[in-house]
Amino acid sequence: MPTKRFTLSVKRHDPPSGEPPRFQEYELEVEEGVTVLEALLRIQAEQDGTLAFRYSCRGAVCGSCAMVANGEVSLACRTQLHGLGTDEITVEPLPHLEVVRDLVVDMDLFLEKNIEVRPWLDPPGPDPPRERLVDPSDWTEAEPYTNCILCASCHAVCPVTGRDPAYLGPAALAKHYRFLTDARDGAAEERLALVDSEVGVWGCDVVWNCSKICPKGVRPTQGILTTRERVKPKD
Ligand code: SF4
Repeated sequence: MPTKRFTLSVKRHDPPSGEPPRFQEYELEVEEGVTVLEALLRIQAEQDGTLAFRYSCRGAVCGSCAMVANGEVSLACRTQLHGLGTDEITVEPLPHLEVVRDLVVDMDLFLEKNIEVRPWLDPPGPDPPRERLVDPSDWTEAEPYTNCILCASCHAVCPVTGRDPAYLGPAALAKHYRFLTDARDGAAEERLALVDSEVGVWGCDVVWNCSKICPKGVRPTQGILTTRERVKPKD
């Protein structure tokens, strides 16, 4: 299999040290199909054990390895070096979140927003003797929103999260919509009140960045716009 030589310029940062961020270059020869994540693992194993990055499943399921490769937010486990169209590649952490170290960002702010939107079912009436079944025809709207893997890629490309840390953000609002539109839920009024604000659905700039970047096909902007329709005061 043909190999190619790449230079990876990785953003290094250790905030507690007080040192400013810097780029460090690593050279490596890799075969076609090698991903950014695999390249980082090779660098860590063979050249620099101090390089910090987060990953888990390696299969676009856990959402841990979102980062920026050559200016584009993507999952490192899905981004192949050969596919980037150049042999000089910069790798940076996700923007709009604090760096813990190198490519590892603090996800607390992002995850807290997802909890603020009550991401659980609140069905009406007493519990049935068995599970609450959903007719498949009632599931088509909610289903795509269940695919979120909490990778924060949408958060990183959203202009509003970049300027207002209080904004709930596209992932949390997509999660909100997933429960709002679930046929088993009975708390629509409370749910709509939760996001009827400038840090909720009215804060979105509607630039669709989140829907374009999502690796799982979730469309937060569409959910936000539909929620706006339901929040709108009735005449
Ligand atoms: Fe990632 Fe998509 Fe979920 Fe945003 S909505 S956190 S981009 S999977």
